[in-house]
Amino acid sequence: MSRPIYFAGLSLTSPRGVSSEDVVLYNIPEFATAYKEKFGVFFLPTVTDSELSFERNKTRILVHYFSSWKDYVIVTRPFSFSVEEVEAIARKIREESKVIASIAASRLSSLTRLSSRFMGIVDGFEIDLGLTSLLIGEHRSFESYAIDVIEEFVSVSKRPVFVKVSPSVQLSSEFLENLRQTGIAGMVFTPHIVYSIGREFFRVHSPYLSKLYALIWAKLIASTDIPTAYISDIPEHLLGEVSVEKTFDILLFDTALLSTLVDMPGVVELDKEMPIRWRYIPDPLRPAIDVVREPQCLNVCPYRAFSKEKNLHDSPSGLAVADEKCNVCGLCLSSCKDVKLMATLTPE
Ligand code: SF4
Repeated sequence: MSRPIYFAGLSLTSPRGVSSEDVVLYNIPEFATAYKEKFGVFFLPTVTDSELSFERNKTRILVHYFSSWKDYVIVTRPFSFSVEEVEAIARKIREESKVIASIAASRLSSLTRLSSRFMGIVDGFEIDLGLTSLLIGEHRSFESYAIDVIEEFVSVSKRPVFVKVSPSVQLSSEFLENLRQTGIAGMVFTPHIVYSIGREFFRVHSPYLSKLYALIWAKLIASTDIPTAYISDIPEHLLGEVSVEKTFDILLFDTALLSTLVDMPGVVELDKEMPIRWRYIPDPLRPAIDVVREPQCLNVCPYRAFSKEKNLHDSPSGLAVADEKCNVCGLCLSSCKDVKLMATLTPE
């Protein structure tokens, strides 16, 4: 067995992990078992207790542009998981690896209430400042408010606290030092820009942003001794030996891990505007792809909801309808050109 890695006081089996921005992997039933050898830490999907209600039939991922795993723009939906779902995931994987609960809330009372749901089943907490700034709005000085809330939360937390920063948080050396002085255990840097329109939230994943912000923040962290993690949109096998992402103590992944699961057809939609709302796939409808015209789409579903043999046998038209394993992620809707929503009727 390899020697443990120490990160922010936690003993990890590997300096790699899954980020709290994943919207696909944690929904795969066998995911944690399959990945436990590879990852030393699982940051659970971020949850909030704001009035944003959890919507099960809303899609969670959209491919805006895809040329390769070094050149893509994927948009995901923050707060895709309910608190109950994330609690269940934590209970399932806590025996396997270190588990961190990720939370975003506009008030200290909400943070403490949410964190109490995870006590005893996680090894630490992550506060997502990018999402917190969207929940708070722009009516007060965010930096000083954030420092006050984090300081209070760290003082009452019985577990290590990590702070996650994104491009929407103005990160100066002074703010970094103020964060360090709150007593946080470590920082997670995410290159993902988040935006909201009304009650809809969006997060943009792109290898170009990933590389750009790694360069900017690598310089900033050189002057601090805080343990750091970086979320890379470039899969590990495509990172060079001396890539700037490796300046950080550990690396976390989310959309980049899709490269190990799915075959992504090329998607050229850069002329289209970024989304302002997520699609619904209402029950009992499910996606149906044309496997004659787009055979590559059979392998785009991370949950293997399309079966070529079954569908082609049942449907001479060449349409493959997703089976009950479809959990409405939305990946096929934006990756394949001609997807219909269909209901499968079974005789009484
Ligand atoms: S069929 Fe698969 S890829 Fe398409 S929406 Fe359902 S789960 Fe997602």
